[in-house]
Amino acid sequence: MLLRDTHACIDLQAIAHNLETSRSIAGDATIIAVIKANAYGHGIMQVAHLLAECGVNMLAVATLSEALQVREQLPNIDILIMGHTPNRLLSYIVSNNITQTVFSVEQAKILASYQKTCRVHIKIDSGFHRLGLPINAQSVDSIKAIKSLDYIDVEGVFSHLALTNSQDDNLQYTRFKSLVDQLAKMGINFKYQHICDSIAFTRYPAFRLNAVRLGALLYGMQAKDQMLNVREAITLKSAISHISKLPAGSGVSYDYAYRTTCDTRIATIPIGYADGYPRNLSQGGYVMLNGRRANIAGIINMDQMMIDLQSHPHAQVGDEVILYGAVANLPIADIAKLAQTNKNEILTRLSMRIPRVYQYD
Ligand SMILES: *Cc1c(COP(=O)(O)O)cnc(C)c1O
Repeated sequence: MLLRDTHACIDLQAIAHNLETSRSIAGDATIIAVIKANAYGHGIMQVAHLLAECGVNMLAVATLSEALQVREQLPNIDILIMGHTPNRLLSYIVSNNITQTVFSVEQAKILASYQKTCRVHIKIDSGFHRLGLPINAQSVDSIKAIKSLDYIDVEGVFSHLALTNSQDDNLQYTRFKSLVDQLAKMGINFKYQHICDSIAFTRYPAFRLNAVRLGALLYGMQAKDQMLNVREAITLKSAISHISKLPAGSGVSYDYAYRTTCDTRIATIPIGYADGYPRNLSQGGYVMLNGRRANIAGIINMDQMMIDLQSHPHAQVGDEVILYGAVANLPIADIAKLAQTNKNEILTRLSMRIPRVYQYD
């Protein structure tokens, strides 16, 4: 096999388990499973097939190309694009039976012009100020106009929370809910109403409405204050490719930013920032080697990096190294904190050069 030592093991059973946990909490609310950004690095097609087999019937992505990739292999599942699609590409939405997010009468009219039923979810800006119709009288008219178009099936209405604090989140939710209620009084109803992502889903049970959009939670990511029964599905692994025996005071890697403080061995690991491993872990980062920490030594290169084997006298070329993963007790959250970013960025930056190896047992 051509599998390089550096690869990611994806535990599909964990994702299935996280879905079951989410379902038990969601009750009657429909779970819209978010698989954008290569399913947060886990592999969009493998995850899409898994979720379809587990009975999920709506997937959500960010872009048209993601939607088309999934549609090619899953002809019957609902696929919602949560982002904007340019006017010139809207014919692909209709011809591939994709559900599009809309927030203008103009786009709805273009979709209708292809004279084939097209499902849309209307996006409302309740305060995030990213996409959506603002909440005002003019928007109510726009929603009425979209609703009245032939060939347009307005299946859903949704918004997104900024997750600033409970007071601001409440305000956003209340604005959104009042609009939905106002529309209902006018006889305008939606099959799906949704505002919760993973964090809001667990933090605010009262906001769940009848659908929730879950990404992070399916991949085992949750906020520190949350204690749900979910687990991480990804382990990033490599192996020692070379060991140098160095005297005290030897420089390691570019700029000699690291110098050995005693006679020690330095091991090379064939993973670098081009693989999506954060370069800023050059300072303070570590990996797991034979169940214990080994500190990164020097600046992380594009394809390789070094670790100090001071506390690993028995380590040898070929020994497995774990960059992150629950099996090594090195959760993504710890890596994200060290790299001063969030867990989703750590996951989604994992590059296409890293082979994904799937297991389901
Ligand atoms: C990505 C995304 C989600 C999923 O967010 P998680 O925090 O990963 O659950 C939900 N809604 C929208 C609009 C998104 O873009």
